Amino acid sequence: MILPIVLYGDPVLRKKCKPVTEITDDIKELAENMIETMIEAHGVGLAAPQIGIPIQLAIVDVSHDLECISYLRINDQDLELEDCMPLVFVNPKLEPHSVKELCEEGCLSIPELRGNVKRPADLTAHLELLNGETIKLETDGLLARAIQHETDHLNGILFVDRLSSAGKLKAKRDLKRLQRDW
Ligand code: ZN
Repeated sequence: MILPIVLYGDPVLRKKCKPVTEITDDIKELAENMIETMIEAHGVGLAAPQIGIPIQLAIVDVSHDLECISYLRINDQDLELEDCMPLVFVNPKLEPHSVKELCEEGCLSIPELRGNVKRPADLTAHLELLNGETIKLETDGLLARAIQHETDHLNGILFVDRLSSAGKLKAKRDLKRLQRDW
């Protein structure tokens, strides 16, 4: 089922989301619906608050471009990207990495606005999966970026918060319009 995507201005996007304590059938069904919704919207990721539910559940799928990462390790084992997409996870915990890179981002909740965001190039994430397993995932490229972007959503943070001051100034008018439309 395709779900309506919440747009910028909705306070649910600013909530600090609750951890998922139990993987129920409802959570699994929600994840399935989020995958359908993300595919229909041509996104590479979607977080539960973006469909109005403030819980720590998100999905990513960057398999449209198998070259978008240079490595992927799960629990210290090398894996191919297509073997683990779409990736559905709850309660993510990210380890800090200091080497950052600037890349353009957009967001399904902030239509038509794109901007350059500086984030760590490499990612080490501890993710809980819907089968109850907790994994350590290490990667870079678009997958690292997408997981960081979605994890931000679960903390009420949007990519526009991470723009440079010049970038924020440029985005100001569009954000005002979105806020007004909401
Ligand atoms: Zn987003």
